[in-house]
Amino acid sequence: MEADEGLSRWGRRVTLWARAASWSLISLCLLMLIPRPAWAQMAWQSPPAGSPPGRGHIQTDADLFLLPKGELIREGRGPISRHEIITYTIQAGDTLWSIARKFNLDIDTLRWCNPEIERNPDHIWVGQSVVVPPRRGALYTVKRGDTLESIAKAWGVAPIDITAEPLNHMSEPYKLTPGQRLFIPNGRKNLTRWLRKPSPAPGYDFAWPLVGVLTQGYSAHHRAIDIGTVYGAPVYAARGGVVVHAAWARTGYGYTVIINHGGGLMTLYAHLKGTWVHEGERVRRGQLIGEVGSTGRSTGPHVHFEIRVNGRRVNPLNYLPPKP
Ligand SMILES: [Zn+2]
Repeated sequence: MEADEGLSRWGRRVTLWARAASWSLISLCLLMLIPRPAWAQMAWQSPPAGSPPGRGHIQTDADLFLLPKGELIREGRGPISRHEIITYTIQAGDTLWSIARKFNLDIDTLRWCNPEIERNPDHIWVGQSVVVPPRRGALYTVKRGDTLESIAKAWGVAPIDITAEPLNHMSEPYKLTPGQRLFIPNGRKNLTRWLRKPSPAPGYDFAWPLVGVLTQGYSAHHRAIDIGTVYGAPVYAARGGVVVHAAWARTGYGYTVIINHGGGLMTLYAHLKGTWVHEGERVRRGQLIGEVGSTGRSTGPHVHFEIRVNGRRVNPLNYLPPKP
């Protein structure tokens, strides 16, 4: 159901033969010795089709970006791979947008991993080094007084999203040290922007159940759309109807609500933090039915949203207004 699951496959495990060596020696050795399978080269070393030739030489400009204090190799976990956080040297002709496209990220991720760019996104220069994470999110430096809960809340994720993030190599008891850097997968700032109620979309079959970004589209392998937003964001009924399921689903959907709208139409909302309605309850279009979570098989706060027409899972984008 989730393409994000593939991420776990990315984490390669190699014996920590270099445990005794100094951190700098380890990183140097890993840089030179990590075998790079073909798929890694596809993902990280070839400019995407359509890139103008002569720029975007990721292969030569990417260096491993090491989190301080050897945290990446703590607890016998390793190794560092191309799928860790890297730095990219800006080439002539690059823009923040082209870099984001090159690494399949969004602009906000680049901004939230690079404080000087966040302050002034228009001010980038050739030769400047940009921190590039492997996935959407933010790189955060722990400050005195921070707790896991406070950081998670500020970035719109659940604490477990941070502690379970492989890049952070955390284990219980989770202790934070000022200056420690954490990757916050799907972390987002300016949270109120994501808590806006979607338009009721008169004239359309369905309204958006929440405001967010499309993190995965409809395909033969994923007959739904994934809408990413912040942890705890409200989720609304896309159309009036009767709740036919409001409980934990064993299929990997986590907390799930299913609404029967009559006329052969149903909607499903999965990975919720909990459900705010009960089976048999009649709901209006736009009524609060739950909050965004990361339950079930999910790697970050989002809603897996399905529209079913006579039992067939159709592409929701064909039934929703263009914008929430
Ligand atoms: Zn999904």
